Formats: sequence, C-alpha cells, structure tokens
Amino acid sequence: MRGYINIPRSVACTACMHCGARPIISMVEQGDYVVKCPNNDSHYQTNPGLIDIDDWNQHNMQNLEVEFDHSSMIACHDSQLNYTMFLTV
Ligand SMILES: [Zn+2]
Repeated sequence: MRGYINIPRSVACTACMHCGARPIISMVEQGDYVVKCPNNDSHYQTNPGLIDIDDWNQHNMQNLEVEFDHSSMIACHDSQLNYTMFLTV
C-alpha cells in the first residue's frame, strides 16, 4: 500500500529541478518516507526514512533557472490548490 502526501503550502520546498513539479511525500514502507517528484520516479527522491525536505531542497536548488522571490519560495510555487493530507497513515 502506498500513500501520498501533498506537502502543505506552509512548508518551504523547491520545485523538481527536472520538470518543475511540486514534490510529494510517499510512504515506501511502514514508517519510511521519501520526498519525490510526483511525475517521474527517476527524478530525484530522498532516501527512505524520515521526511527530509531539506535534502530534497538541497538536490533541487542547483538548477533553478528562474528567480524565485522569497515569498514564492516559502509558498512552494504551486498552481494546484490541492492539499490532501495523510491519505494513508
Ligand atoms: Zn520531476
């Protein structure tokens, strides 16, 4: 069983450096999570474990071709107002 969690807007995270998607949190095993691109598993994803958005951010910052202003960084640059939380616990 896999559950996906959309990261709340209040959490600062960068978009996927490959496709610009907002990352999601996926549960890979009981208690283990990865932060990953929702579009493609070959795009960067964090190692399974605790939810590590900092690690995602570090790996997806290097290729920002657009200038994010401070407010859009915090808001996670998201066009889809879709914040389903904890579909699977
Ligand atoms: Zn991607």
